[in-house]
Amino acid sequence: MAVDSFEFGKFGHHNPILSEYSKYRMKEYIKDTVEHCGFISTDGKYIHKTNTGVKINGRNTCIRDRANFKRIYWHTHPKGRPYFPSDNDIFLPLHYKETEFLFTEFGIWIMWCDNNKRYDRDYILKIANKINGDFFNKKKIISHKNWYDNNTDSKHVESYILELKKQLDITCIFVPIDLS
Ligand SMILES: [Zn+2]
Repeated sequence: MAVDSFEFGKFGHHNPILSEYSKYRMKEYIKDTVEHCGFISTDGKYIHKTNTGVKINGRNTCIRDRANFKRIYWHTHPKGRPYFPSDNDIFLPLHYKETEFLFTEFGIWIMWCDNNKRYDRDYILKIANKINGDFFNKKKIISHKNWYDNNTDSKHVESYILELKKQLDITCIFVPIDLS
């Protein structure tokens, strides 16, 4: 999906219009050294934080509070962490049929899955790991502020998104917004 055709709100509840206040709060969370997570109100006006990351097996992970069943979840990758979805981030919307927002300093990833298929976790993680590995190898720069600001970068992102759709039937959008 071409990024210049993107508008918040275009996909209804999958893609609420984020308020300026929500964006402001997200910038604060991204500055932190740990991950944060929560849910977004369906109108996009409110970002609710439910948890802060803890270290599990040496990796900083945010445990979701699924009791809310709000359907639109978010989490952050703090500065310096990978700016794209992890293998598990790709698995979650497929398995739970929820919308996932991933906030990074370079922009927002939004992912969801429209089908009702049940997915095997190991199978998804294997494919996600391959797609993520290919993307990472093409784009070794992980801390360059304007990494998205050229054609090559946006082409890589576009092919990454196409692979996710083709191989896993997951819809993914990247919105480059400076949240640093
Ligand atoms: Zn993540």
